[in-house]
Parts: sequence; structure tokens; C-alpha cells
Amino acid sequence: MRIDGKALAAARREATAEAVRRRVSQGLPVPVLAVILVGDDPASQVYVRNKENACRKAGIEPRTWRLPADTSGKELLDLIETLNRDQSVHGILVQMPLPAHLDEQAVIAAIDPDKDVDGLHPVNAGRLANALKGFVPCTPQGAIALLEQAGLADMTGLKAVVVGRSVLVGKPMAQLLLNRNATVTICHSRTKDLAAHVAEADILVAAVGQPELIRGDWIKDGAYVIDVGINRVDGHLVGDVQTEAAENHAAAITPVPGGCGPMTVQMLLENTLLAAQLQDDRES
Ligand code: NDP
Repeated sequence: MRIDGKALAAARREATAEAVRRRVSQGLPVPVLAVILVGDDPASQVYVRNKENACRKAGIEPRTWRLPADTSGKELLDLIETLNRDQSVHGILVQMPLPAHLDEQAVIAAIDPDKDVDGLHPVNAGRLANALKGFVPCTPQGAIALLEQAGLADMTGLKAVVVGRSVLVGKPMAQLLLNRNATVTICHSRTKDLAAHVAEADILVAAVGQPELIRGDWIKDGAYVIDVGINRVDGHLVGDVQTEAAENHAAAITPVPGGCGPMTVQMLLENTLLAAQLQDDRES
């Protein structure tokens, strides 16, 4: 079975749009997502446009700041501080990567954790590690929703293998699986015998960024496979897993494209709605 991320994202976007309509009819403000894009990286421009379009479809207002590549750290931090204090702004997203002269960690740390809809602030990483409520990075959150959509409501005792240990995907993914009582192994570039770890996985999440690194015949029969990787090969997008060969073994697998990508954007919308609700609670 292929897990259709596009269809799941579309259905959830309709639910988000309905929730936004409901809050507006109750006199609550339209959720506002502030997006900051520094420089003219073509891929980042496409990602930002996609996020803006998705926001509009859900009734969320995107407010985008397109800043020149030579924006100073102080200018960027000042803007974030202004947005932190602006009560009409609910979520703040700084599109990564930033130009090399800017300190990404300092920028992320400057965002109010309660407006950190990307879930990258250390406070939110700490909340996740402690199984407390907070913002969870969009891609791993989407991966969990995809597993649930595939019928895996209860992950208790299952062996989960996450390949990749980035702050953006691998680590929060492992935390989410652990919080659902899976037994989690994290693999990375120094892991010995990756194939042997993958072969044991009831749940496999691949977040590496190497085309078809994970061979189909490594996959355990009946495994649930989430392929986060996006790699461009000869003008086509491929994942980190050999999808077709893996289908001979997996119970369910996400395609690339059309799996994790659409769900990542949808989770950003859900996090922005959550941020707006948080601020309603704060003000009431
Ligand atoms: P990073 O480059 O930050 O992390 C990659 C991870 O893979 C690292 O932990 C690295 O290990 C590990 N790795 C590299 N080579 C190997 C190997 N041969 N065997 C095992 N592990 C290896 O990438 P991200 O986590 O940001 O992204 C991963 C992929 O997911 C990319 O293709 C990215 O484009 C895609 N992505 C997709 C999204 C979506 O919406 N679908 C969203 C975000 C990312 P080490 O730590 O030791 O270096």
C-alpha cells in the first residue's frame, strides 16, 4: 500500500479551514503566519510560495518579509523581536537555510517559543524530549500522521528505526516514536551495518538525503516505511528508499513525491492554528 500524503494533507487542510472559519465566526482573529525569507535562494523561494498558498487555502493570513541577502544579524533579530511583540502575529517562520553570515541558532533562539511554528526552538525541543505540550517540527509530526493513516494507531513495542539524526527531522522523529512507546534505534553516517538495523524495523523512517540509499530487499516483511528524503536525480525526485523494491516487503510506504512533503506543509498550518489558539488562551 502506498500512503497518499497528498490526499491526507488535502483532507486535513479542509479541517483546518473549517476550524479557522469557526474561530472567525466567533469573533476571534484570523491566524497570521509571519514568514521571513532572507536572500534569493531559488528553492527557498519556491518553499515560501508553497507555504503562502497553502495558508491562503486554509484561511490563514501569510505575511512575508523578503529581505536582501546582505541583511545583518541585528536587523533580522530586531524584526523577530518586533514580530514576537506583535499580538496580531501568531506564528513566526524563518525560512532556512540562511545566508552564511547569519547565525541560524541565534535566529531560532530569538523566536518566542509560543510562536515557533517550526518547532525548532530549544524550548520546544526540550518540551518534546519531556513529552510536554509544545510545537513539534512539521516533517516528523506529518510522518506520525501518515503512519496513523496507514492504520498504525498503536506503536507500542514495535521496533522503529530512524535513519538520520538531524534536529529538523531525525531526532524529533525518534522522540515522537519513543513517546508512542516504540523501541527506537537512531542510525546515522557512522552506524555500522545499516542494512542489519533496517532489516529489524517494524517502522522505518528514512531522513538522510541520499537517493535510494536504503535497498528494497533490506526492508522487513510487513514494515511501515516513511521516506522523508527528497533527492533530485536526472530531473526526477526520488526518496532515500528504493520504493518499488521495498513495496515487495513493506505493508505500507510513502511515495516521493506525494508523501511527506505535502504533510509537512499541512502541519505548518496546524501549528499556526494552534499558535493562534494558544494566544487566545493567553489573552482570555
Ligand atoms: P541532514 O543532512 O541534516 O541530515 C542527514 C542525516 O543523515 C544525518 O544525521 C547524517 O548522519 C545521516 N546520514 C548521511 N549519510 C548517511 C548514511 N550513509 N547512512 C546513514 N545515515 C546517513 O538532512 P535533513 O534531516 O534535514 O533531511 C533529510 C532528507 O529529508 C533530505 O533529503 C531533505 O531534503 C529531506 N527533507 C524532506 C522534507 C519533506 O518535507 N519531505 C522536510 C525536511 C527534509 P550524520 O549526523 O552522522 O552526519
